Amino acid sequence: MSCSVCDNKEQKFLKYFYGEGEESYRIDLCDKCHHYIKTIDVRDLEESDSSLEDLATLHLDVVAAQKGYERSVPNPWAA
Ligand SMILES: [Zn+2]
Repeated sequence: MSCSVCDNKEQKFLKYFYGEGEESYRIDLCDKCHHYIKTIDVRDLEESDSSLEDLATLHLDVVAAQKGYERSVPNPWAA
């Protein structure tokens, strides 16, 4: 497990949490760069539409933001 934002591999800086009753949705937190990444386990979903799932889990973004983390959004201009 490593942070895909800052490439931190020190486990003590890496945390995660799940939504209540939503084990398919995980928020990975990095205490080094204070970014988070939302991970959706699509294996548990009958239909997967990542943008819909993203909307359905906005409350997890709120929790992460309240904890002081910023969402890592893939930069479309990066290689
Ligand atoms: Zn990081």
